[in-house]
Amino acid sequence: MTGKATTVKLSGGGRKMPYVGLGTYEVKGEEVGVALRAALECGYRHVDTAASYQNEEAIGDVLQEWLTSGKVTREELFITTKLPFIGTRAGDVAKFLQKSLQKLRVSYVDLYLIHSPVGFMGQHDEDHKPVDSEGNRVVDPNTDLESTWRAMEDQVECGRAHTIGISNFNSVQINRIMKGCRIPPANLQVEAQIYHQQKDLKAFCHKLGISFCAYSPLGAPYLTNGTGDRPPPLKHPRVTSIATRLKRTPAQVLLRFLIQLDMIVIPKSSNPDRIRENFQVFDFELSQEDMSSLEALDCGKEGRIVKLEESRRHHEYPFDIPF
Ligand code: NDP
Repeated sequence: MTGKATTVKLSGGGRKMPYVGLGTYEVKGEEVGVALRAALECGYRHVDTAASYQNEEAIGDVLQEWLTSGKVTREELFITTKLPFIGTRAGDVAKFLQKSLQKLRVSYVDLYLIHSPVGFMGQHDEDHKPVDSEGNRVVDPNTDLESTWRAMEDQVECGRAHTIGISNFNSVQINRIMKGCRIPPANLQVEAQIYHQQKDLKAFCHKLGISFCAYSPLGAPYLTNGTGDRPPPLKHPRVTSIATRLKRTPAQVLLRFLIQLDMIVIPKSSNPDRIRENFQVFDFELSQEDMSSLEALDCGKEGRIVKLEESRRHHEYPFDIPF
């Protein structure tokens, strides 16, 4: 990223995606309402949700409130949602996007992502985590990513999604989508944080014109076992000492670091003070020296926190190759 830009231009039509969005994983009902109102009040215009987070209705209520009161226009908002793991069969894509639009109470989303290359077999449309009698996730043996992508392209052509993209895909899977697609992915959403900086995957995407969005940018502190012997990213001494010197918070340093690496970030918080804090990342810059010292914390593949273990039995499990 250059200077203090707050948006990234996406391929295909030049839509602009804000560098900071509100993450909403595991935030439901009134809690997500409070979070989204606080976010909109302080300037966020980008919200990240998913059918499987089961909070689209609550988000839709707040969006509707803001749109009808005229506090914001639809064009100013950037709404991302995701095709659920149980929706990856080509014939199901339109149905699941229509359900999301209905819940979000909008006629289109700005970005529709395939949540994961791994498909599950749900018993019904809200059965997002299907398990068999032994407690194992019921994976779909027939997932065919190329045909799913063709159905995603149809959603752009009929106006339900302005842009489309992918999440949790590896470089080989991305190459398969690129080969023969009518509309290339505009965005890849994957985990990226100081221990797992995704340098190779990001360079690969940028070369293809695919923008890069970092999920769990603060290191998902709620996953306490995730970082092994390493301190949680928000508590790493290098992060806290940069924050003290610059009179910023550790979260702001972590987010600013990723933004300067040209990544879009979607920190989740339910706390209005932290929501505001996470948005105040455009009025300072990390020096090259600070960037280099944080870049040195990268542990590559070993630094991954979100491992999608429940997807391991699927033939498209994405995290077994270097990137
Ligand atoms: P994050 O790295 O964003 O961490 C969120 C946690 O950090 C929460 O527990 C939050 O607590 C805490 N937190 C937030 N701000 C601060 C702050 N300023 N100081 C201290 N603690 C803070 O993790 P997520 O895994 O939630 O990732 C972000 C978003 O990415 C998700 O919400 C979701 O939208 C998306 N995502 C997508 C995935 C995919 O498969 N595509 C997978 C995982 C995430 P509190 O709420 O109390 O502030």
